[in-house]
Amino acid sequence: MSAIEFVHVNKIYGDRARPAFQAIHDFNATIKPSELVVIVGPSGCGKSTLLRMVAGLESISEGQVIINGHVVNDLDPSRRNIAMVFQNYALYPHMSVKANMAYALKIAGMKQSEIDLRVQEAASILGLNEMLERKPRELSGGQRQRVAMGRAIVRQPAAFLFDEPLSNLDAKLRVHTRLEIQKLHRRLAVTMLFVTHDQIEAMTLADRMIVMNGGRIEQFDTPEVVYNRPATMFVAGFIGSPAMNLLHHVPGIPQGKVLGIRPEHVTLQPSDFDPDVQRFSGLRAMVETIELLGAERLVHARLGDEPLVIRLDAAAPPPVIGDSVRIQIATHLIHWFDAASGLRIE
Ligand code: ATP
Repeated sequence: MSAIEFVHVNKIYGDRARPAFQAIHDFNATIKPSELVVIVGPSGCGKSTLLRMVAGLESISEGQVIINGHVVNDLDPSRRNIAMVFQNYALYPHMSVKANMAYALKIAGMKQSEIDLRVQEAASILGLNEMLERKPRELSGGQRQRVAMGRAIVRQPAAFLFDEPLSNLDAKLRVHTRLEIQKLHRRLAVTMLFVTHDQIEAMTLADRMIVMNGGRIEQFDTPEVVYNRPATMFVAGFIGSPAMNLLHHVPGIPQGKVLGIRPEHVTLQPSDFDPDVQRFSGLRAMVETIELLGAERLVHARLGDEPLVIRLDAAAPPPVIGDSVRIQIATHLIHWFDAASGLRIE
């Protein structure tokens, strides 16, 4: 099982005809052997670029990508022993499932008996045994996705790269396939690098996650740490649904500090008042809209001129739209950030 290391990696796009654009800035990270690391960030932050550099589909402008201790910058993609699963599956439409899965092995000149063995094994892992003779058009989106994974598995690569593999699936199938990938990871214990813009996918799948913004790492840690101790204001606003409230103008807090508080940590006064917990209290927020999400309600309010979202248990009596409500924020649940640098203040 292979580690993947990025050492001072930079990527600059552009040629003589176009101005240069730096997509990746001094990227340093080590993916440990057998680890499932998810790279998450908004559109255009450089996720696919990083993955493509590991796969060898994109050149590396500066720095090194190291797989299993070997610098692979100049190594042909076919010699990197890495399998990539794409968003659009990239199956051959005229070939059966079996032929799609066997294709790379055939090209590599593997013995037919060994190919059959590997295809059978991958098909059982993925539950594709009944579908081996079908063509891709005779499969559902989720089944096609499994064939794409099967094609990667049969190669027994040192690492898997996934580029938004779930984004073409409907919500239910996404959750299901996410769980399949987790199981697959546990079963194969192989290094996986998974790219998504979906923070929930990242949180649920990752051993550790890299949150990216503008070609740079904002934070690289376990989902728990990223959620509970976001390193920057960007991470605080990106991870969590709905996002953490980031308040710049709260009466009583010094200029230059931003108060971050998750919607579930804002309470309406005073039913559960606990005098032992130090709180910001007496703040007033104006209720603008309320959404019922089943088990909970999201109250969209305004604190001064800043938006504030409060998450309430749906069983609790909701406030009235247009009312001004008193809110409390327990100080031990506040995240403080430096307004200028965006960095967490401890
Ligand atoms: P998405 O989630 O939308 O796929 P991403 O995070 O994967 O986005 P990349 O595709 O890696 O982002 O692109 C990173 C940045 O590099 C973007 O600003 C993009 O416009 C730019 N870029 C990507 N490919 C090229 C290219 N061939 N030439 C110039 N710029 C490029």
